[in-house]
Amino acid sequence: MTTQVIDGKQIAKDVRKKLKPRIAALREKGIVPGLAVVLVGEDPASQTYVNSKGKACERLKLYSETIRKDANITQEELIEIIKSLNANDKIHGILVQSPVPSHIDELAVTLTIAPEKDVDGFHPYNVGMMLLGRGALLPCTPNGILKLLEESQIDPTGKEVVIVGRSNIVGKPVAALLMQKAKIGNATVTVAHSRSINLAEITKRADILIAAIGMPEFIKADMLKDDVVIIDVGVNRVDDSSSEKGYKLVGDVDYEGCFEKASYITPVPGGVGPMTISMLMENTVTAAEKISSVM
Ligand code: NDP
Repeated sequence: MTTQVIDGKQIAKDVRKKLKPRIAALREKGIVPGLAVVLVGEDPASQTYVNSKGKACERLKLYSETIRKDANITQEELIEIIKSLNANDKIHGILVQSPVPSHIDELAVTLTIAPEKDVDGFHPYNVGMMLLGRGALLPCTPNGILKLLEESQIDPTGKEVVIVGRSNIVGKPVAALLMQKAKIGNATVTVAHSRSINLAEITKRADILIAAIGMPEFIKADMLKDDVVIIDVGVNRVDDSSSEKGYKLVGDVDYEGCFEKASYITPVPGGVGPMTISMLMENTVTAAEKISSVM
C-alpha cells in the first residue's frame, strides 16, 4: 500500500475557507468575531504561537487583541484581566497561552473564563459537555485531529485507536472524542502513558496511532503494525546545524522510519499543528454566533 501523507496545511486552509460565509453572515448583523489572547512571560515558543493566532485572525478579518503581561503578574491581576474580557462585547473568545508561570494556578484562571468564551475548550463546563457528547467548544488540537481523519476519509468506527499521552489538552480529550457515538467516533480507544507496561505491544494493536508525548521520534517502526494510520501531535525542537535557526522541528514519531509501515501519516510540521489554529478560528466564530444569538 502506498503511504498517503495527510496535508494538514491544506485541510486547515479548507476549514478557514468554510468559515468565511459564517463570518460574512455575522458581519451583516454588525458582529465581528473577536479573540483575545493573553500571553504571560517571554517563552519564545508561546510568542510564536500567539503571533500565528493573531495572523490567522487578520487573514479572516476577525478582531483580535493580544494582551502581553510580565511573568511577575499576580494571579489576582490576571483574573481581573479575564473578568474584564468576559464583560467586553467585542470579545467572543478568550485564551490564556500555556504555560503560565508556576506561581499562577492555571485552573483558577481557566475557571474564570466565561464558558461561552472558552475557545480553548478547557473550562470544566466545556470538558464535561464534551464527555457527554454535547460539546460546542471542543478543544482545538483534538478536534483538529478528528477533522484530519474526517477529511482523509478515515472512519475510526470499530477501529483500535491507541493514544500515547494522557494530557488534559491532547491525550484525554482526543480519547473522549473518539469513543463517542458520533460520526467521527465509535473507536475502541486505549490510552497509554509513561507508566504503561510493554508499550510496544499496546501500540502494535493500533489501527490508528496518535502520538502526543513530547519526545522526539519516540515511536519507531517496530512498535507498529502494517498499514497503521499515524497522527503525530508532537512538536519537538532538535538541534540542526544545517538550519539557519540552529534547530528543526520533529514529531514524536520517527517519520522516515515509520513511513513505509503507514497507510496514512501526518508530517511535522504541516500536520496537526495548522489544524489547531484553524479550529481555534472555528471556535471563535461559533462562540460569536452563539453569544450573538442570545443577545
Ligand atoms: P504532556 O507533557 O502534557 O504529556 C505527555 C504525555 O506523554 C504524558 O501523558 C506522559 O505520560 C506521556 N509520556 C511521556 N513519556 C512517555 C513514555 N516514555 N512512554 C509513554 N508515554 C510517555 O504533553 P502534551 O500532551 O501537552 O503535548 C504532547 C506533544 O504534543 C508535545 O510535543 C507538544 O509540543 C505537542 N503539542 C502539539 C500541539 C499542536 O498543535 N500540534 C498542541 C499541543 C501539544 P505521564 O502522564 O505518565 O507523564
